[in-house]
Amino acid sequence: MNLIEYKARERGIEVEQRDERGTSSSCSVCGHEDEDSRIERGLWKCDRCGVVAHGDVNGADSIR
Ligand SMILES: [Zn+2]
Repeated sequence: MNLIEYKARERGIEVEQRDERGTSSSCSVCGHEDEDSRIERGLWKCDRCGVVAHGDVNGADSIR
């Protein structure tokens, strides 16, 4: 438990943490997983299906 989570629970706040690494490195279209496909924060390019998307959007789709 990190400090932020501890402080939050102290106040009765549930902290939901999602691992953005995993979702951001997998394609929301074909599911291809490749750390290298993430060009930079906010930009994703898939080597398999060639889709180019904003990393945040891609990650959100994967979570959903
Ligand atoms: Zn893909």
